[in-house]
Amino acid sequence: MNARVTFTSHDIDAVPAAEANSMLHTPVQAALPAPAQFDAVTDLIKTVFHVPSVAVALHGAPANAERGVYRSFLEIPLINHDEVIGSLRILDTVERDFSDRDCQLLEGFAKLVVDQVELWSEASRDVLTGAMTRRAFSDTLRKTFAARTRAQGTASLILFDLDHFKRVNDTWGHAAGDAVLKTVARTVLRELRVEDSFGRVGGEEFAILVANADAQRAADVAERVRIAIENATIPGHPEIRITSSFGVAEATNAVLDVEDWSDRADEQLYAAKGSGRNRVNVAVDAQPLRAMVN
Ligand code: GH3
Ligand code: MG
Ligand code: MG
Repeated sequence: MNARVTFTSHDIDAVPAAEANSMLHTPVQAALPAPAQFDAVTDLIKTVFHVPSVAVALHGAPANAERGVYRSFLEIPLINHDEVIGSLRILDTVERDFSDRDCQLLEGFAKLVVDQVELWSEASRDVLTGAMTRRAFSDTLRKTFAARTRAQGTASLILFDLDHFKRVNDTWGHAAGDAVLKTVARTVLRELRVEDSFGRVGGEEFAILVANADAQRAADVAERVRIAIENATIPGHPEIRITSSFGVAEATNAVLDVEDWSDRADEQLYAAKGSGRNRVNVAVDAQPLRAMVN
């Protein structure tokens, strides 16, 4: 039987995500959209156990439990190929004891959740870097653009491309190049918030969707990421230094659609490459290009 945690006490404030964050090491939260796809299974679990809340926490992605005061919970780790990838927790607002049978039953559900995670990761996560695939990222971009129009909120897109990456492959080999891509992804994820999205949209081209951010805030994020990449060391290859060039575009009212939005960020990325690389360029509506960093 897997390790389990049962807990009964007063006033458990159900914020399982924070605990899961510290428990789980792989920083892929920004690669994982909110786990809405678990709704069918979590609804079933609620019914079977007669609990008001079920939380699935994955690699630090936000758990889907509503906040509230819970008095008891039962937690089972989600295990895939001997690796703990998250936790499944049922919570109740009343004090109750969970039996061994409850535990076994929840373990059964945990396997279902792990299967779902696996299916969904295959389709939406890049195997090498753990970032979202181009397709998954572009779906998120579309949804964000549509929501922005409704709510008049804002969001910004950052595109970046590693500088002279071909040289890395040519000098140190393809495996070293792969190690660089992995390090870049890990480095970027450390700089993002859970609500941001991060995708690998080309071989050595990445995209960040900065939620609720105007161009200036996104430029600050891009600048932070630029510096973090510049300072990153590659495991096994301390001699490799890597930089990248960034284009930033906010989804302002002047932006026609998602393609236009991407094109604007891409134009800035291209301009950043043209003006010396290792810099952030920001699209400004009705104004010429503005170089943020030199
Ligand atoms: P620039 O600064 O203009 O972007 O130059 P660059 O060398 O980065 O650009 P270029 O497009 O010439 O080369 C990109 C290289 O990225 C070529 C390709 O072999 C390499 N690449 C793409 N995907 C992968 C991958 O998954 N692993 C490795 N190791 N290399 C990759
Ligand atoms: Mg490149
Ligand atoms: Mg490229």
